[in-house]
Amino acid sequence: MSTVQFIKALTNDEGSDKASELFRHTFAEDESGVWSAPGRVNLIGEHTDYNAGLCLPIALPHRTFIALKPRTDGIVRVVSDVDPTSFQEVDLNGLEARGVDGWAAYPVGVAWALRSMGFSQVQGFDAAFASCVPLGSGLSSSAAMTCSTALALDDVFALGYGASDAGRVTLIESAMKSENDMAGASTGGLDQNASMRCTAGHALLLDCRPELTPLENTSQQPFDLSAHGLELLVVDTQAPHQLNDGQYAERRACCEEAAKVLKVANLRVTADGIAKSDDPFQSLKETLDALPDEVMKKRVRHVVTEIARVRSFVRAFANGQVEEAGRLFNASHDSLKADYEVTVPELDVAVDVARKNGAYGARMTGGGFGGSIIALVNSGESEKLAQLIADEFARQGFHAPRALAAVASDSARKVR
Ligand code: ADP
Ligand code: MG
Repeated sequence: MSTVQFIKALTNDEGSDKASELFRHTFAEDESGVWSAPGRVNLIGEHTDYNAGLCLPIALPHRTFIALKPRTDGIVRVVSDVDPTSFQEVDLNGLEARGVDGWAAYPVGVAWALRSMGFSQVQGFDAAFASCVPLGSGLSSSAAMTCSTALALDDVFALGYGASDAGRVTLIESAMKSENDMAGASTGGLDQNASMRCTAGHALLLDCRPELTPLENTSQQPFDLSAHGLELLVVDTQAPHQLNDGQYAERRACCEEAAKVLKVANLRVTADGIAKSDDPFQSLKETLDALPDEVMKKRVRHVVTEIARVRSFVRAFANGQVEEAGRLFNASHDSLKADYEVTVPELDVAVDVARKNGAYGARMTGGGFGGSIIALVNSGESEKLAQLIADEFARQGFHAPRALAAVASDSARKVR
């Protein structure tokens, strides 16, 4: 059987050189600067962001680099190392939602979003992307692209939001708007917040209640795995990952419908009510009894229990209770499989192999329907486990998976 591939992160110099060379090769001049933004992996708290819930991402060491030069007209020209042979060109003037096809919608959409948010000083630009974040693997290559673009545009058009954590919330809004309204890929904000706000050595506890200010809605939780003798293995199953085929929208709509039935603004209100009650089990049962159908009951049970698991995970990890943290990973996956129904056989098999071979816990991460799993393992165990998963995938006739080592890294920044 073949050896499983580990995707290495580009260093700052490697990423900047690649983006810069692609820029020069494509546009026959030099860029103004290079910026980069990371992909992310969500430790726990899945499908909670759009329910005003809690989630806990870390930024990956794997980043998207953008070499960019502003223009004085409304033309955007973008090229990516995914297809370095040609660039795409779009005029921002007169551009409407969903007006750009293909991947260019993501970076073009950021400029379009900033302009529609009132930043009329934003003009066109030329940009070249180089990335080591796997595309469509649930590790947020899309947010790495939109957030690196937003930070670059903030810088070259002097918007003044990139330097502070609170200011970045405005840039996050433009990145989300690009994904939602230009690329047509529904997103709840977890990915963009992670890419813009995570810090090295920490997980970002993100509270998605809309009434909170940016300073209130996050806290940095120490997440230094090596200090605990641990590693976080990410396995990209390479199973086809399709969030915009209606499944994601269907889950969101079901949660919104449930909130209406329960007469609450969102399911976070329900989750908090249950958590604070004298008998949370009974309270959850009564909530579910009030819902009209089985599917809705399952979806709500996932959201309510998953929000509780984020709290428990933060507590367990802070107290050094690694086994409990692993158990919560497992419970999260099982809930996503049985109640939220967003796993596929590749995710379940990868998680199963990890659990049977020494992982403290394992779960799918990201939206599901393909994508990646994470496994919490002792230091030095990642490669062996990744190989065992690859061997089982070969036996089952799945695509060969790829692996990454996840270390909590830094958010978007200017690199050159
Ligand atoms: P994920 O964000 O989990 O990787 P998405 O489906 O949300 O998955 O986003 C993947 C899409 O983002 C790609 O299909 C492509 O359109 C776009 N994309 C992201 N990174 C790049 C890149 N470096 N070059 C070109 N397109 C990219
Ligand atoms: Mg994405």
